[in-house]
Amino acid sequence: MLPGVRLVVLGKQGAGKGTQCVRLSHHYVVPHVSTGDELRGEVKSRTPLGLRAKEVMDRGELLPDDLIMEMVKGRLGEGDTRARGFILDGCPRTIPQAEALDRLLAPDRLDLVIDLEVPTAQVLKRLASRRVCVDCGTNYSVAQPPMVNWTCDVCGGEVVQREDDTEEAIARRLDNYERQTAPLIAWYTERDLLVPVNGTGSPDTVTKRAIRVIEERRAAPGRLP
Ligand code: ADP
Repeated sequence: MLPGVRLVVLGKQGAGKGTQCVRLSHHYVVPHVSTGDELRGEVKSRTPLGLRAKEVMDRGELLPDDLIMEMVKGRLGEGDTRARGFILDGCPRTIPQAEALDRLLAPDRLDLVIDLEVPTAQVLKRLASRRVCVDCGTNYSVAQPPMVNWTCDVCGGEVVQREDDTEEAIARRLDNYERQTAPLIAWYTERDLLVPVNGTGSPDTVTKRAIRVIEERRAAPGRLP
């Protein structure tokens, strides 16, 4: 089996992070850890955290760093992620989260941070037509719906538009991304961890590009295991 990987994927809303992270997690046989999916699970189960998170998420705002890092700490402390690694999607989203993640992983560190690059005009188009399964989070679009009547091809769940995919919430999320998450690109570049990947083109093309950069890093001396 391929060695695992400890990977963070950054990218604007609609850049295709979710889709690519699922594919990379299958390829490297490591868990896909998505803070957005975990939070949506809490909302769906109406847990105290979910009830608190829903309103903030629907407005397109960020949840407090401490709360997110507590959730991530729990997930990264489990046996599967400790053994083979993880594909982390949606965290870190602020510099304090990146610092907390570093502390959490020490003495290990991340292997690589991929920045999935897609122009804003294109992500706006993708977000307007995005539809998602409420149960397993599989993404569809108006142009590529599930085979049968908005029922998920993977799990049979209902496929809907996300409540935070309104024009107003999208604008706020993209604005937050520029202000709070984009600075992570410089932060990880300084630490020699960041690799940009062109996120335009078909999902297959983008996955191949991502795998190529991970393997290039692995091949570089003193880099990945
Ligand atoms: P998107 O990237 O499209 O905003 P996600 O599914 O990653 O979607 O996240 C949905 C929402 O969950 C965010 O808008 C935010 O409210 C909350 N969230 C997810 N991850 C984080 C995080 N690391 N820090 C703060 N809030 C988060």
